[in-house]
Amino acid sequence: MAADIRLFPCLTDNFGYLIHDPATNATASIDAPQAAPIISALQREGWTLTDILVTHHHGDHVGGVAELKQKYQCRVVAPHDKSTKIANVDLRVGQGDVVKLGSLLARVLETPGHTLDHVSYVFDAEKALFAADTLFSIGCGRVFEGTYPMMWDSLLKLRALPDDFKLYCGHEYTAANVKFALTVEPDNPALRARAEEVTRLRAEGKPTIPALLGEEKKANVFLRADEPSVAASVRLKGRSPAEVFGELRERKNKS
Ligand code: ZN
Ligand code: FE
Repeated sequence: MAADIRLFPCLTDNFGYLIHDPATNATASIDAPQAAPIISALQREGWTLTDILVTHHHGDHVGGVAELKQKYQCRVVAPHDKSTKIANVDLRVGQGDVVKLGSLLARVLETPGHTLDHVSYVFDAEKALFAADTLFSIGCGRVFEGTYPMMWDSLLKLRALPDDFKLYCGHEYTAANVKFALTVEPDNPALRARAEEVTRLRAEGKPTIPALLGEEKKANVFLRADEPSVAASVRLKGRSPAEVFGELRERKNKS
């Protein structure tokens, strides 16, 4: 039986995610921005929360953990990082660890840069990537704690996943990301197609997520810092991809 994935808005622009295993009734929340919408989604589906998979320590990703833990006595899985300040953790995970959720398996990728503790969860059988604030559709997270080369390496880890995987990211930032990406690659046909799709989805009040990873590889400028045309567009022809990535990120910060 295939896993069920639900997404719903939390806080201002965060996504809440539930992944449910019909074979065992295991249900995990990916992060917990806020307890109330997660509890509502669980009640709507008739599911009971068994696990929370935390990606990083920011408040908009862990704000609901304590209340959900109290209500469901669920297991809290969080990054193995000594500097992290996440409370109520039952299991710490790092690169290559595999978390069992009933019969579902989540593989852990360490993707530091946005924060030093950031991890992403990959459900290979479900072709689903939960990348939180590392990779957004047509964008990436701000580099708060890490360095540009570190964040670029993290993006390369995610880019290595197959094209038919779906990206489930932490925030609905796609429209703003598209606007910025078009300033760097105005003639990229995949980006222009995504721009049209995003305009239509937002007009219909629908989320722009999930996104297909194969499309992101073609349209997301932050995954394309090693394309000579992107380097040339930001006047860094011949420079390293990490430098080009850093320039893109700084331009986005100022946009
Ligand atoms: Zn964050
Ligand atoms: Fe966030």
